[in-house]
Formats: sequence, C-alpha cells, structure tokens
Amino acid sequence: MADKILLLPDNIANQIAAGEVIQRPASAVKELLENAVDAGATSIQLIVVDAGKTLLQVVDNGSGMSETDARMSFERHATSKIRNIDDLFHIRTMGFRGEALASIAAVAQVELKTKRTGDETGTFIEIANSSVIRQEPIAVAEGTSIAMKNLFFNVPARRNFLKSNAAEMRHIVEEFTRVAMAYPHIKFTLTSNGQQLLHLESGSLKQRVIQLLGNPYNTKMVSVTDNTDYMNIHGFTGKPETAKKTRGDQYFFVNNRFIKSAYLNHAVMSAYQQLIPADSFPMYVLFIDLDPEQVDVNVHPTKQEIKFEDEKIVYAFVQAAIKHALAQFSITPTLDFDL
Ligand code: ADP
Ligand code: MG
Repeated sequence: MADKILLLPDNIANQIAAGEVIQRPASAVKELLENAVDAGATSIQLIVVDAGKTLLQVVDNGSGMSETDARMSFERHATSKIRNIDDLFHIRTMGFRGEALASIAAVAQVELKTKRTGDETGTFIEIANSSVIRQEPIAVAEGTSIAMKNLFFNVPARRNFLKSNAAEMRHIVEEFTRVAMAYPHIKFTLTSNGQQLLHLESGSLKQRVIQLLGNPYNTKMVSVTDNTDYMNIHGFTGKPETAKKTRGDQYFFVNNRFIKSAYLNHAVMSAYQQLIPADSFPMYVLFIDLDPEQVDVNVHPTKQEIKFEDEKIVYAFVQAAIKHALAQFSITPTLDFDL
C-alpha cells in the first residue's frame, strides 16, 4: 500500500497557524501596532475601513526594514527579536514568535512599504496567499506601512464568522486602547472610514488614561505606586465612587504587555472590600514591572495570558499597593505592611 502522509504546503500550514493568531480584524490590529511599537516608532497611525474587513493599515515612523528583511518578515518563525530560547526569558519586546506577519499574509492581501533611516530607497511588497506577487523599490518616508486588505478573502468560513461592523469596531478600539494606554509617550491616531476617531498626542499616563477612558476620571482616580526589589507597580485606581455594575475600564499590564488575569483582578477587588458594593467593579489601570525571568509570556499565541514564577508574591504586592492607595477612603485604619 502507498504511504499516505504529506507535508502541507506552506500557504495551507500558514492558514492553519493563522487561526490561532488572527481571529478577527482586532487581532491584526494588536499585532501590527505591537510591531510598530517594537520598531521604536514615536508616531503610529491606524487606518480602518469597514471595521477592518476591507482595510486595516498601520503606518509608523519606526526603524523600517531592509529589502531582504522586508521579504523575510512574512516567513513563519522569522523574527529579529529573539535568537535562542534563553532570550524568551529576557524579552523586552511585545513580539517574539515571528508568526504575525506570516499569519496575516496567509489570510489577507498585504501591501508593505518600508524604508530604514538613511536608506536611499524603500521597498514595496505585495502578497496574497502567502506568496509575493510584486516587489519593487519605491520612494517612501522612513518607517513602515502595512496594509491588510480583504481579511479572510480566501477563508470564506472565517469571513462568515465575523460579526457586524459595529461589533468588530468595538474589538478594534479595545485593542487600540490597550496598546495606546501602555505607551503614552507615543502619538497615536485612529481613523475609521475616513473619519478621525482618536488623536492622542504624546503625554503623561494620566493624560492618556483620561483621553481613552473619559474626562470624568480626571478627578476620580488615585495614583498607585509601590516598589520593592522584586517588583514595581504604578498606575491609577478609581475612587470607590467610580465602581460600576459592569466590568470595563480594568487594565493590567505586565512589563507593558496587556494581560488578563482573574487572579490579579481578585487581588484588586479584595482591596476594595467594604469600600464598594460586592457586585460592582472599580476602574483600574495598573502597570506591574518585574524581571522578565519571573514571567513566562509564551503560554498562549496571543500572549494575553502569562505565568508568574511566584504568583503569590505578585498577588500580595498588588493587594497591598491598592490598599495603600485607597487608605484615605477606608473607615478603619489599614496596617501598612512591607513584603
Ligand atoms: P515578531 O514581532 O514576533 O518578531 P512578526 O511576524 O510580527 O514577528 O514580524 C516579523 C519581523 O518583521 C519582526 O521581528 C521585525 O523584524 C519585522 N517587522 C514587522 N513589523 C515591523 C515594523 N512595523 N517596523 C519594522 N520592522 C517590522
Ligand atoms: Mg510581531
């Protein structure tokens, strides 16, 4: 009998892998914005048409790419950010898996324009179904522009799963918010169907939080800062009066990466005990920084789940920092304790 196992062609393998990384337009927004941040951009534009179903484009003024790198960037497992497995535990960049552009190129039509600082000319590359259709030198500004057109044009089943434009746009704004919040010194704009929705000048974290979450927070949050040798925390937490019936406006960043953690959320909630009704949720925007060796960020392709080497220390630290920040509101004096 004949053997039956075949290696899948690259474009099919990439399409399958893309399923984990690019689920909807907002996933591409996250990946493209993070690449712009990693490239050291000080100004990043996100342009959206039809909630990303027709066009998603990110334009940055970052480092740009050489002609060879521009081509390589769409290969799977192609990255400039790590060289070996040890690097994973010292990671300071948002990316490292080398999967995003390969995934995007497998499920959309892509146009890349890029130029490095000091290079004479830039590079234009057009891709569909993981293959380069056109490549030529072009005159272009320093930095990178990646346009992703007709997402899932070649995976109709996935395209049909996309929600209404309004729903997909909400996901996009949420991903945009998470990245913009973490980098208040970077200028961001968001344009949808030709209309500028957000224009964020570089500024302080407080200014950025207010721009993104609303002016009322200007007088309704207290700052959080605590430091130990092991870790630091900074950010803002809402005064008890801001607690709402619906969860929203809750942001945790670990080493500037937005994460979801029911465990850390619990640490914050426990610090609000007796200050807010049990079924309500305070706002918070908290940045935890600790040695990258103490965190495993490679537990999920989207990197929104992480593992702490010692999560009990992190829990106690977060809880204490929030109690400390809220001390003025408590009826009974809290004991300040050091870890
Ligand atoms: P990763 O970010 O995990 O390295 P990606 O597939 O997102 O993988 O990107 C592949 C590579 O392409 C990056 O490592 C980087 O070198 C390059 N790259 C991607 N986007 C940009 C950009 N906006 N500016 C400069 N280089 C970029
Ligand atoms: Mg990336």
